[in-house]
Amino acid sequence: MVELTDVRKSFGSLEVLRGVSLRVRQGEVAVILGPSGSGKSTLLRTINHLEKVQTGTVEVDGELLGYRRSGDRLHELPEREVLRQRTRIGFVFQNFNLFPHLTVRENVAEAPRSAQRRPRAEVDALADRLLDRVGLAEKADAYPRTLSGGQQQRVAIARALALEPKVVLFDEPTSALDPELVGEVLEVMKDLARSGTTMLVVTHEIGFAREVADTVVFMDEGLIVEQGPPSQVLDHPRHERTRAFLSKVL
Ligand code: ADP
Ligand code: MG
Repeated sequence: MVELTDVRKSFGSLEVLRGVSLRVRQGEVAVILGPSGSGKSTLLRTINHLEKVQTGTVEVDGELLGYRRSGDRLHELPEREVLRQRTRIGFVFQNFNLFPHLTVRENVAEAPRSAQRRPRAEVDALADRLLDRVGLAEKADAYPRTLSGGQQQRVAIARALALEPKVVLFDEPTSALDPELVGEVLEVMKDLARSGTTMLVVTHEIGFAREVADTVVFMDEGLIVEQGPPSQVLDHPRHERTRAFLSKVL
């Protein structure tokens, strides 16, 4: 479902991704671990083309992102096409990024309304279904600021699902939450995973990784150092850097 091939990305002279290849199959959950600054967020951002890669390719559901192939050459797609591709990839941010001036229902309905121009009644019904799924049906008419952080993040997850994405990317979805609110967000994510959603999750929640991940990916300094099932990477890491990292977060 998601395939990165030798992706390299620099900011000026700083090479942040130094040749990352990764494949996540349909319905799989990949958890990405690694120290701060190792390139995890940049990796997720390349997947929905918020960052352009210098070399390498990103494919989602068999479709090359940002480019059209002709023979051996890649041609950049027009912005309109990139936006269309991005609608098939859900993104959940650390800081929720809800629209403060819209109600919860309007937040969830916004993308289907503006990207797909679907009728109001239809997108409202869709939003209500998704809010029910994350346990927030009764908050549909509330504004984000009146919700707890955990509730806001659950709205953000509902919003990320609104365009029926092929894959949902999570960038430290619980890092900004008070500890007692982390569980409710992880529960919603576990439910998504169980229902077969393809997910890439950057998180330090090792318990979540152990329980839900099909693959755990450990990154350091712009490279995937090691990758495998949770029982291998978390309990029998092969690399010293993975061991050192785990000893700090466990
Ligand atoms: P992580 O999410 O693992 O903490 P990031 O992908 O956010 O790491 O960042 C990796 C490195 O790239 C860091 O050194 C960061 O400072 C740098 N970086 C990230 N985004 C930018 C940017 N837009 N411009 C310049 N440097 C950036
Ligand atoms: Mg990050």
